[in-house]
Amino acid sequence: VSPESLAEPVHYFDLAHSDAFAEILKIESCLKGALAGDELYMLYQPIFSLSTGRMTGVEALLRWRCPELGQVSPDRFIPLAEQSGLIVPIGRWVREEVCRQLQVWCSDPDWDITVAMNVSPVELAQPTFAEELLDQLTSSQVPEQLLRVEITEHSLVRDNEAVEQNLVQLKARDIEINIDDFGTGYSSLSYLRRLPVSSLKIDRSFVDGLPAREDGATITRTIIEMARALGLDQVAEGVEKPEQLAFLHGHQCTYGQGFLFSRPLPPEQIPGLRGRGVVL
Ligand code: C2E
Ligand code: MG
Ligand code: MG
Ligand code: MG
Repeated sequence: VSPESLAEPVHYFDLAHSDAFAEILKIESCLKGALAGDELYMLYQPIFSLSTGRMTGVEALLRWRCPELGQVSPDRFIPLAEQSGLIVPIGRWVREEVCRQLQVWCSDPDWDITVAMNVSPVELAQPTFAEELLDQLTSSQVPEQLLRVEITEHSLVRDNEAVEQNLVQLKARDIEINIDDFGTGYSSLSYLRRLPVSSLKIDRSFVDGLPAREDGATITRTIIEMARALGLDQVAEGVEKPEQLAFLHGHQCTYGQGFLFSRPLPPEQIPGLRGRGVVL
């Protein structure tokens, strides 16, 4: 053992790290009160068909406005909620809120905009996840085909009987499954044949460099082609620039989502966007 590696643990206790640790503790303790304190809400980001230019769906995105810490990004608090198990009650709140919102939108008999909901690997590993969600859908009388579930490859890294069972149960009731952040996980691709997946969401990190950065372009093109060959839709995430849209449209990517089209919006603004399209 070298002296350097012996000295290593000391760095863990230096000021920068203890500050970061204190911040994590702070966020965790505030998060415990978030549900009770009415501090969570959802925004909805439109998703557009790149063949017709029409808005066909939205993605539900969780927001937390903490009285003490201000607005905290889900990239920051979801991982902490997953570690502490708080993601289970938070996820249950998200499901209820999304079902409630869909029920409101569906009071219009012509409503056909799908809502994709993010589900954490921790939630999906709960044996009763699908059953609970299906019960919620039944009691809110929302058409099942309007709800989609987004999971990441992290849910699929280990063979997990409960995860597969949940997905099969959802699919049996017409709920489509999207693979989020596709291409950033470390799982084998064999699940694409085994599990009832409907679309792949091409991670923003690949879309980011389009069309100039060759690696992003090659990976994006390859994902589109593979998904098409497997009969899956493709949703490009994080489309910010017209040249990215042109590349995706040129390669017949089926759907796009990103700030170029719209930021995540409060639910009241979604009905007004129906029938609106983007210029391709
Ligand atoms: P995600 O599911 O991949 O969601 C897409 C993220 O990209 C969202 O960040 C969205 O605001 C952002 N985004 C969309 N278009 C653009 C763009 O053009 N440029 C850039 N720079 N960003 C764009 P957000 O809302 O901060 O969410 C981050 C992540 O937190 C989500 O990534 C998802 O993994 C997680 N998350 C959000 N809501 C929930 C939830 O209700 N439950 C769970 N379990 N996770 C959630
Ligand atoms: Mg997502
Ligand atoms: Mg994503
Ligand atoms: Mg993400």
